[in-house]
Amino acid sequence: MRYTEGGFMTWGPRPREKMLQTITFLKCLECGAENSRPFMEWDFIFKVVGNEKCPRCGGSRSRIVNIYVPEKKESK
Ligand SMILES: [Zn+2]
Repeated sequence: MRYTEGGFMTWGPRPREKMLQTITFLKCLECGAENSRPFMEWDFIFKVVGNEKCPRCGGSRSRIVNIYVPEKKESK
């Protein structure tokens, strides 16, 4: 992909839409490694999830430590 000064791409899907994804940050309860994945429904901070496998130690329990919500820059 190429960008030119002063303007975004003039073809294809708008690249900015990819940046508007909400990201959930998880911390492994076994080894403390932090991981992130796309936000899923019912995610909330401090929730313990038992179906996320830690890529570092293989543990299956993590706690949600942060949720990143991108700001939409839309003018009303
Ligand atoms: Zn781990």
